Amino acid sequence: MKTNKEIMDLAEQALIHTYNRFPVVLDHGKGVYLYDVEGKEYLDFAAGIAVNAFGYDVPEYKQALKDQIDKVIHVSNLYYTEPLAKAANKLAKATGLRKVFFTNSGTEAIEGAIKLARKYAWNRDNGSTDHEIIAMNNSFHGRSIGALSVTGNPHYQEAFKPLIDKVVFADFNNIEDVRSKITDKTCAIIFETIQGEGGIYPVEADFIKEVRRICDEKDILLILDEIQCGMGRSGKMFAYEHFGVKPDIVTVAKALGCGVPIGAFVAGDKVCDSMTAGDHGSTYGGNPLATAAANAVFDLFEKKHILENVNETGSYLGEVLDRFAAKYDFITEARGMGLIRGLEFSVPVGPIVNRCIEEGLLLISAGTNVIRFVPPLVITKENVDEMAQKLDRVLSEV
Ligand SMILES: *Cc1c(COP(=O)(O)O)cnc(C)c1O
Repeated sequence: MKTNKEIMDLAEQALIHTYNRFPVVLDHGKGVYLYDVEGKEYLDFAAGIAVNAFGYDVPEYKQALKDQIDKVIHVSNLYYTEPLAKAANKLAKATGLRKVFFTNSGTEAIEGAIKLARKYAWNRDNGSTDHEIIAMNNSFHGRSIGALSVTGNPHYQEAFKPLIDKVVFADFNNIEDVRSKITDKTCAIIFETIQGEGGIYPVEADFIKEVRRICDEKDILLILDEIQCGMGRSGKMFAYEHFGVKPDIVTVAKALGCGVPIGAFVAGDKVCDSMTAGDHGSTYGGNPLATAAANAVFDLFEKKHILENVNETGSYLGEVLDRFAAKYDFITEARGMGLIRGLEFSVPVGPIVNRCIEEGLLLISAGTNVIRFVPPLVITKENVDEMAQKLDRVLSEV
Protein backbone atom coordinates (compact mmCIF):
# COMPACT_ATOMS: atom_id res chain seq x y z
CA MET A 1 0.00 0.00 0.00
CA LYS A 2 1.38 3.38 -1.02
CA THR A 3 1.28 6.39 1.33
CA ASN A 4 -0.43 9.73 0.65
CA LYS A 5 2.97 11.26 -0.09
CA GLU A 6 4.07 8.57 -2.57
CA ILE A 7 0.85 8.86 -4.59
CA MET A 8 0.97 12.68 -4.57
CA ASP A 9 4.51 12.61 -5.97
CA LEU A 10 3.53 10.08 -8.64
CA ALA A 11 0.57 12.24 -9.68
CA GLU A 12 2.55 15.49 -9.88
CA GLN A 13 5.13 13.86 -12.20
CA ALA A 14 2.56 13.46 -14.94
CA LEU A 15 -0.34 15.88 -14.35
CA ILE A 16 -0.39 19.35 -15.89
CA HIS A 17 -0.39 21.56 -12.83
CA THR A 18 -3.68 23.47 -13.19
CA TYR A 19 -4.80 22.65 -9.64
CA ASN A 20 -3.23 23.28 -6.28
CA ARG A 21 -4.65 20.10 -4.82
CA PHE A 22 -5.05 19.58 -1.08
CA PRO A 23 -2.41 17.13 0.24
CA VAL A 24 -4.88 14.27 0.65
CA VAL A 25 -5.22 11.07 -1.40
CA LEU A 26 -8.82 9.94 -1.10
CA ASP A 27 -9.50 6.25 -1.37
CA HIS A 28 -13.13 5.44 -0.56
CA GLY A 29 -16.28 6.81 1.02
CA LYS A 30 -19.16 5.73 3.22
CA GLY A 31 -22.20 7.87 4.02
CA VAL A 32 -20.97 11.46 4.36
CA TYR A 33 -17.39 10.44 5.21
CA LEU A 34 -14.36 9.97 2.95
CA TYR A 35 -11.19 8.05 3.82
CA ASP A 36 -7.65 8.57 2.58
CA VAL A 37 -5.22 5.80 1.64
CA GLU A 38 -3.78 5.85 5.17
CA GLY A 39 -7.23 5.36 6.72
CA LYS A 40 -7.82 8.90 8.02
CA GLU A 41 -11.51 9.89 8.12
CA TYR A 42 -12.90 13.16 6.72
CA LEU A 43 -16.39 14.59 7.21
CA ASP A 44 -17.33 15.78 3.73
CA PHE A 45 -18.85 19.26 3.39
CA ALA A 46 -17.67 19.64 -0.21
CA ALA A 47 -19.40 16.69 -1.94
CA GLY A 48 -16.95 16.69 -4.83
CA ILE A 49 -17.96 20.34 -5.49
CA ALA A 50 -21.72 20.02 -5.03
CA VAL A 51 -21.91 16.73 -6.95
CA ASN A 52 -22.36 13.82 -4.54
CA ALA A 53 -25.90 14.54 -3.35
CA PHE A 54 -26.35 11.17 -1.63
CA GLY A 55 -22.87 10.84 -0.17
CA TYR A 56 -20.96 7.62 -0.75
CA ASP A 57 -21.49 3.88 -1.08
CA VAL A 58 -25.22 4.17 -1.82
CA PRO A 59 -26.52 0.66 -2.61
CA GLU A 60 -29.43 1.60 -4.94
CA TYR A 61 -27.28 4.00 -6.95
CA LYS A 62 -24.41 1.54 -7.30
CA GLN A 63 -26.79 -1.26 -8.31
CA ALA A 64 -28.37 0.89 -11.04
CA LEU A 65 -24.91 1.55 -12.50
CA LYS A 66 -23.87 -2.10 -12.26
CA ASP A 67 -27.06 -3.22 -13.99
CA GLN A 68 -26.43 -0.81 -16.85
CA ILE A 69 -22.76 -1.82 -17.13
CA ASP A 70 -23.90 -5.42 -17.54
CA LYS A 71 -26.13 -4.39 -20.46
CA VAL A 72 -24.22 -1.72 -22.41
CA ILE A 73 -22.17 1.35 -21.52
CA HIS A 74 -22.08 3.30 -24.77
CA VAL A 75 -23.73 3.18 -28.19
CA SER A 76 -23.52 6.83 -29.49
CA ASN A 77 -26.33 9.18 -30.43
CA LEU A 78 -26.89 7.40 -33.75
CA TYR A 79 -29.32 5.16 -31.83
CA TYR A 80 -32.01 5.39 -29.15
CA THR A 81 -31.70 3.83 -25.70
CA GLU A 82 -34.26 3.46 -22.94
CA PRO A 83 -32.16 5.17 -20.22
CA LEU A 84 -31.72 8.17 -22.55
CA ALA A 85 -35.45 8.41 -23.27
CA LYS A 86 -36.35 8.13 -19.58
CA ALA A 87 -33.74 10.60 -18.35
CA ALA A 88 -34.78 13.25 -20.89
CA ASN A 89 -38.40 13.03 -19.77
CA LYS A 90 -37.50 13.09 -16.08
CA LEU A 91 -35.28 16.14 -16.51
CA ALA A 92 -37.83 17.98 -18.67
CA LYS A 93 -40.46 17.35 -16.01
CA ALA A 94 -38.18 18.38 -13.12
CA THR A 95 -37.21 21.66 -14.78
CA GLY A 96 -40.75 22.47 -15.94
CA LEU A 97 -39.33 22.97 -19.46
CA ARG A 98 -39.77 20.94 -22.63
CA LYS A 99 -36.74 19.34 -24.29
CA VAL A 100 -33.25 18.25 -23.29
CA PHE A 101 -29.78 17.92 -24.82
CA PHE A 102 -27.35 15.86 -22.73
CA THR A 103 -23.67 16.85 -22.43
CA ASN A 104 -20.72 15.45 -20.48
CA SER A 105 -20.07 18.45 -18.28
CA GLY A 106 -21.31 21.82 -17.12
CA THR A 107 -19.15 23.83 -19.46
CA GLU A 108 -20.54 21.93 -22.44
CA ALA A 109 -24.06 22.62 -21.23
CA ILE A 110 -23.23 26.34 -21.30
CA GLU A 111 -21.73 26.02 -24.80
CA GLY A 112 -24.94 24.40 -25.96
CA ALA A 113 -27.11 27.04 -24.31
CA ILE A 114 -25.13 29.80 -26.05
CA LYS A 115 -25.45 28.04 -29.41
CA LEU A 116 -29.18 27.49 -28.92
CA ALA A 117 -29.74 31.17 -28.06
CA ARG A 118 -27.78 32.28 -31.11
CA LYS A 119 -29.67 29.84 -33.35
CA TYR A 120 -33.02 31.12 -32.05
CA ALA A 121 -32.02 34.70 -32.83
CA TRP A 122 -30.53 33.70 -36.20
CA ASN A 123 -33.81 32.05 -37.22
CA ARG A 124 -35.83 35.03 -36.04
CA ASP A 125 -33.65 37.69 -37.66
CA ASN A 126 -33.21 36.03 -41.04
CA GLY A 127 -29.65 34.88 -40.62
CA SER A 128 -28.09 37.90 -38.94
CA THR A 129 -25.05 37.06 -36.80
CA ASP A 130 -24.46 40.17 -34.73
CA HIS A 131 -26.38 39.17 -31.61
CA GLU A 132 -25.16 40.09 -28.15
CA ILE A 133 -25.29 38.23 -24.84
CA ILE A 134 -25.42 39.93 -21.45
CA ALA A 135 -23.60 38.07 -18.67
CA MET A 136 -22.80 39.06 -15.09
CA ASN A 137 -19.68 40.25 -13.34
CA ASN A 138 -18.39 37.79 -10.73
CA SER A 139 -20.07 34.86 -12.52
CA PHE A 140 -18.71 31.42 -13.31
CA HIS A 141 -19.91 29.30 -16.21
CA GLY A 142 -16.96 27.02 -17.04
CA ARG A 143 -13.57 26.83 -18.73
CA SER A 144 -14.16 26.14 -22.42
CA ILE A 145 -13.82 29.20 -24.66
CA GLY A 146 -17.55 29.88 -25.00
CA ALA A 147 -18.30 29.37 -21.31
CA LEU A 148 -15.21 31.38 -20.36
CA SER A 149 -16.46 34.21 -22.59
CA VAL A 150 -19.54 34.65 -20.38
CA THR A 151 -17.59 34.17 -17.13
CA GLY A 152 -17.22 37.57 -15.46
CA ASN A 153 -13.77 37.02 -13.99
CA PRO A 154 -10.94 38.78 -15.88
CA HIS A 155 -8.33 36.65 -14.10
CA TYR A 156 -9.69 33.44 -15.69
CA GLN A 157 -10.04 35.05 -19.13
CA GLU A 158 -6.88 37.11 -19.53
CA ALA A 159 -4.39 34.69 -21.10
CA PHE A 160 -6.91 32.98 -23.34
CA LYS A 161 -8.16 35.85 -25.48
CA PRO A 162 -9.58 36.27 -28.06
CA LEU A 163 -12.79 34.86 -26.60
CA ILE A 164 -16.17 34.83 -28.36
CA ASP A 165 -17.37 38.21 -29.47
CA LYS A 166 -20.34 40.33 -28.40
CA VAL A 167 -20.58 39.48 -24.72
CA VAL A 168 -21.23 42.41 -22.39
CA PHE A 169 -21.11 42.27 -18.60
CA ALA A 170 -23.46 43.83 -16.08
CA ASP A 171 -23.47 43.81 -12.28
CA PHE A 172 -25.43 40.92 -10.78
CA ASN A 173 -28.60 42.00 -8.96
CA ASN A 174 -28.31 45.49 -10.49
CA ILE A 175 -31.33 45.89 -12.75
CA GLU A 176 -30.40 49.40 -13.88
CA ASP A 177 -27.02 48.17 -15.07
CA VAL A 178 -28.62 45.28 -16.98
CA ARG A 179 -31.14 47.64 -18.54
CA SER A 180 -28.37 49.98 -19.67
CA LYS A 181 -26.57 47.11 -21.47
CA ILE A 182 -29.59 45.95 -23.49
CA THR A 183 -29.59 46.84 -27.20
CA ASP A 184 -31.66 45.78 -30.23
CA LYS A 185 -29.07 43.03 -30.69
CA THR A 186 -29.37 41.44 -27.25
CA CYS A 187 -30.43 37.82 -27.74
CA ALA A 188 -29.87 36.39 -24.25
CA ILE A 189 -29.19 37.24 -20.62
CA ILE A 190 -27.33 34.58 -18.64
CA PHE A 191 -26.71 34.25 -14.93
CA GLU A 192 -26.46 31.72 -12.12
CA THR A 193 -29.59 31.74 -9.96
CA ILE A 194 -27.17 31.51 -7.03
CA GLN A 195 -23.61 32.58 -7.92
CA GLY A 196 -21.43 29.70 -6.73
CA GLU A 197 -17.71 30.10 -7.44
CA GLY A 198 -18.08 33.87 -7.09
CA GLY A 199 -18.90 33.53 -3.38
CA ILE A 200 -22.49 32.20 -2.91
CA TYR A 201 -24.62 35.20 -3.86
CA PRO A 202 -28.32 34.34 -4.36
CA VAL A 203 -30.25 36.30 -6.97
CA GLU A 204 -32.65 38.87 -5.54
CA ALA A 205 -36.35 38.30 -6.19
CA ASP A 206 -36.95 41.76 -7.67
CA PHE A 207 -33.99 41.37 -10.00
CA ILE A 208 -34.88 37.96 -11.46
CA LYS A 209 -38.56 38.90 -11.84
CA GLU A 210 -37.73 42.14 -13.62
CA VAL A 211 -35.18 40.45 -15.91
CA ARG A 212 -37.84 37.90 -16.81
CA ARG A 213 -40.33 40.68 -17.57
CA ILE A 214 -37.83 42.57 -19.76
CA CYS A 215 -36.90 39.36 -21.58
CA ASP A 216 -40.56 38.68 -22.37
CA GLU A 217 -41.12 42.23 -23.52
CA LYS A 218 -38.09 42.34 -25.83
CA ASP A 219 -37.95 38.69 -26.97
CA ILE A 220 -34.64 38.11 -25.18
CA LEU A 221 -33.90 34.60 -23.89
CA LEU A 222 -33.27 34.09 -20.18
CA ILE A 223 -30.60 31.44 -19.58
CA LEU A 224 -30.25 30.35 -15.96
CA ASP A 225 -27.15 28.40 -14.98
CA GLU A 226 -28.23 25.93 -12.28
CA ILE A 227 -25.22 23.68 -12.67
CA GLN A 228 -24.28 24.20 -9.02
CA CYS A 229 -27.45 25.47 -7.32
CA GLY A 230 -29.90 23.17 -9.15
CA MET A 231 -30.86 19.55 -8.41
CA GLY A 232 -32.31 20.28 -4.99
CA ARG A 233 -29.44 22.15 -3.39
CA SER A 234 -31.40 25.38 -2.75
CA GLY A 235 -34.36 23.55 -1.19
CA LYS A 236 -36.34 23.39 -4.45
CA MET A 237 -35.39 21.14 -7.34
CA PHE A 238 -34.31 24.29 -9.24
CA ALA A 239 -33.59 27.58 -7.49
CA TYR A 240 -35.71 29.64 -9.90
CA GLU A 241 -38.79 27.92 -8.44
CA HIS A 242 -38.30 30.05 -5.30
CA PHE A 243 -39.14 33.14 -7.38
CA GLY A 244 -41.99 31.87 -9.54
CA VAL A 245 -39.85 32.50 -12.62
CA LYS A 246 -38.99 30.10 -15.45
CA PRO A 247 -35.99 30.46 -17.75
CA ASP A 248 -36.09 29.80 -21.49
CA ILE A 249 -33.01 27.63 -21.11
CA VAL A 250 -31.53 26.08 -17.96
CA THR A 251 -28.14 24.41 -17.67
CA VAL A 252 -27.71 21.46 -15.31
CA ALA A 253 -24.72 19.25 -14.41
CA LYS A 254 -22.87 18.55 -11.12
CA ALA A 255 -25.43 16.54 -9.06
CA LEU A 256 -27.36 15.38 -12.14
CA GLY A 257 -25.28 12.19 -12.30
CA CYS A 258 -23.97 12.27 -8.72
CA GLY A 259 -20.48 11.46 -9.94
CA VAL A 260 -20.97 9.93 -13.38
CA PRO A 261 -20.15 12.84 -15.73
CA ILE A 262 -23.33 14.22 -17.26
CA GLY A 263 -24.75 17.67 -17.92
CA ALA A 264 -27.61 19.05 -19.95
CA PHE A 265 -29.24 22.12 -21.32
CA VAL A 266 -33.01 22.13 -21.18
CA ALA A 267 -35.18 24.39 -23.33
CA GLY A 268 -38.72 25.72 -22.98
CA ASP A 269 -41.46 25.82 -25.62
CA LYS A 270 -40.21 28.95 -27.33
CA VAL A 271 -36.70 27.67 -28.13
CA CYS A 272 -36.79 23.90 -27.91
CA ASP A 273 -37.19 23.42 -31.66
CA SER A 274 -34.78 26.13 -32.81
CA MET A 275 -31.93 23.67 -33.32
CA THR A 276 -32.48 20.99 -35.92
CA ALA A 277 -30.64 17.85 -37.07
CA GLY A 278 -26.95 18.57 -37.53
CA ASP A 279 -26.87 21.74 -35.42
CA HIS A 280 -25.26 20.18 -32.36
CA GLY A 281 -23.81 16.87 -31.25
CA SER A 282 -21.72 14.88 -28.80
CA THR A 283 -20.25 11.39 -29.02
CA TYR A 284 -20.80 10.54 -25.37
CA GLY A 285 -23.58 12.96 -24.44
CA GLY A 286 -26.49 11.11 -22.84
CA ASN A 287 -24.88 7.69 -23.12
CA PRO A 288 -26.62 4.74 -21.42
CA LEU A 289 -24.33 4.68 -18.37
CA ALA A 290 -24.60 8.43 -17.75
CA THR A 291 -28.36 8.54 -18.23
CA ALA A 292 -28.85 5.41 -16.09
CA ALA A 293 -27.06 7.38 -13.37
CA ALA A 294 -29.35 10.39 -13.86
CA ASN A 295 -32.43 8.14 -13.74
CA ALA A 296 -31.24 6.60 -10.47
CA VAL A 297 -30.59 10.10 -9.11
CA PHE A 298 -34.14 11.28 -9.86
CA ASP A 299 -35.61 8.10 -8.34
CA LEU A 300 -33.51 8.47 -5.19
CA PHE A 301 -34.46 12.13 -4.77
CA GLU A 302 -38.04 10.97 -4.24
CA LYS A 303 -37.30 7.81 -2.32
CA LYS A 304 -34.97 9.57 0.13
CA HIS A 305 -37.13 12.73 0.46
CA ILE A 306 -34.10 14.83 -0.38
CA LEU A 307 -35.88 18.18 -0.67
CA GLU A 308 -37.38 17.83 2.82
CA ASN A 309 -33.93 17.17 4.25
CA VAL A 310 -32.37 20.10 2.38
CA ASN A 311 -34.99 22.45 3.81
CA GLU A 312 -34.75 21.15 7.34
CA THR A 313 -31.01 20.57 7.65
CA GLY A 314 -30.29 23.55 5.40
CA SER A 315 -32.01 26.02 7.69
CA TYR A 316 -30.25 24.43 10.68
CA LEU A 317 -26.92 24.92 8.89
CA GLY A 318 -27.95 28.52 8.24
CA GLU A 319 -28.52 29.11 11.98
CA VAL A 320 -25.17 27.55 12.84
CA LEU A 321 -23.36 29.75 10.31
CA ASP A 322 -25.18 32.86 11.59
CA ARG A 323 -23.84 32.04 15.05
CA PHE A 324 -20.29 31.83 13.66
CA ALA A 325 -20.76 35.22 11.99
CA ALA A 326 -21.93 36.70 15.31
CA LYS A 327 -19.12 35.09 17.32
CA TYR A 328 -16.06 35.94 15.22
CA ASP A 329 -15.48 39.51 14.11
CA PHE A 330 -13.31 38.39 11.16
CA ILE A 331 -16.44 36.76 9.68
CA THR A 332 -18.30 39.49 7.80
CA GLU A 333 -21.38 37.66 6.50
CA ALA A 334 -23.24 34.35 6.35
CA ARG A 335 -25.43 33.87 3.27
CA GLY A 336 -26.99 31.27 0.98
CA MET A 337 -30.00 28.98 0.79
CA GLY A 338 -30.70 25.35 1.63
CA LEU A 339 -27.43 23.44 1.47
CA ILE A 340 -25.47 25.96 -0.60
CA ARG A 341 -24.07 28.49 1.83
CA GLY A 342 -21.08 30.73 2.32
CA LEU A 343 -19.24 32.39 5.20
CA GLU A 344 -17.39 35.53 4.15
CA PHE A 345 -14.19 36.44 5.99
CA SER A 346 -12.16 39.64 6.15
CA VAL A 347 -9.05 37.46 5.82
CA PRO A 348 -8.04 34.85 3.17
CA VAL A 349 -9.69 31.50 3.97
CA GLY A 350 -7.06 29.23 2.40
CA PRO A 351 -5.17 28.57 5.65
CA ILE A 352 -8.45 27.97 7.53
CA VAL A 353 -9.62 25.42 4.96
CA ASN A 354 -6.24 23.67 5.19
CA ARG A 355 -6.44 23.49 8.99
CA CYS A 356 -9.98 22.05 8.75
CA ILE A 357 -8.68 19.29 6.50
CA GLU A 358 -6.04 18.45 9.12
CA GLU A 359 -8.94 18.25 11.61
CA GLY A 360 -10.74 15.79 9.32
CA LEU A 361 -13.25 18.20 7.76
CA LEU A 362 -13.43 18.80 4.00
CA LEU A 363 -14.52 22.35 3.16
CA ILE A 364 -13.82 24.38 0.04
CA SER A 365 -13.50 28.07 -0.67
CA ALA A 366 -15.32 30.24 -3.22
CA GLY A 367 -12.95 33.00 -4.21
CA THR A 368 -10.26 34.03 -1.72
CA ASN A 369 -12.36 34.99 1.29
CA VAL A 370 -15.49 32.84 1.33
CA ILE A 371 -15.78 29.33 2.78
CA ARG A 372 -18.36 27.38 0.83
CA PHE A 373 -20.64 24.75 2.39
CA VAL A 374 -22.04 22.34 -0.22
CA PRO A 375 -22.34 19.04 1.67
CA PRO A 376 -24.11 15.91 0.45
CA LEU A 377 -27.87 16.60 0.54
CA VAL A 378 -28.37 13.70 2.97
CA ILE A 379 -26.42 15.26 5.87
CA THR A 380 -28.10 15.32 9.27
CA LYS A 381 -28.14 17.92 12.05
CA GLU A 382 -25.61 15.71 13.90
CA ASN A 383 -23.28 16.01 10.89
CA VAL A 384 -23.74 19.80 10.99
CA ASP A 385 -22.90 19.81 14.71
CA GLU A 386 -19.77 17.74 14.08
CA MET A 387 -18.73 20.16 11.32
CA ALA A 388 -19.36 23.14 13.60
CA GLN A 389 -17.24 21.64 16.38
CA LYS A 390 -14.28 21.07 14.08
CA LEU A 391 -14.62 24.47 12.43
CA ASP A 392 -14.92 26.22 15.77
CA ARG A 393 -11.73 24.56 16.99
CA VAL A 394 -9.90 25.91 13.93
CA LEU A 395 -11.47 29.39 14.09
CA SER A 396 -10.63 29.81 17.77
CA GLU A 397 -6.93 29.63 16.78
CA VAL A 398 -7.20 32.39 14.15
C1 LIG B 1 -19.11 23.93 -12.06
C2 LIG B 1 -19.87 24.96 -12.80
C3 LIG B 1 -19.79 25.05 -14.20
C4 LIG B 1 -18.86 24.22 -15.03
O1 LIG B 1 -19.14 22.86 -14.94
P1 LIG B 1 -18.00 21.79 -15.32
O2 LIG B 1 -18.71 20.47 -15.21
O3 LIG B 1 -16.88 21.96 -14.37
O4 LIG B 1 -17.59 22.07 -16.72
C5 LIG B 1 -20.60 25.99 -14.83
N1 LIG B 1 -21.44 26.78 -14.13
C6 LIG B 1 -21.53 26.71 -12.79
C7 LIG B 1 -22.50 27.59 -12.07
C8 LIG B 1 -20.74 25.81 -12.08
O5 LIG B 1 -20.81 25.76 -10.75
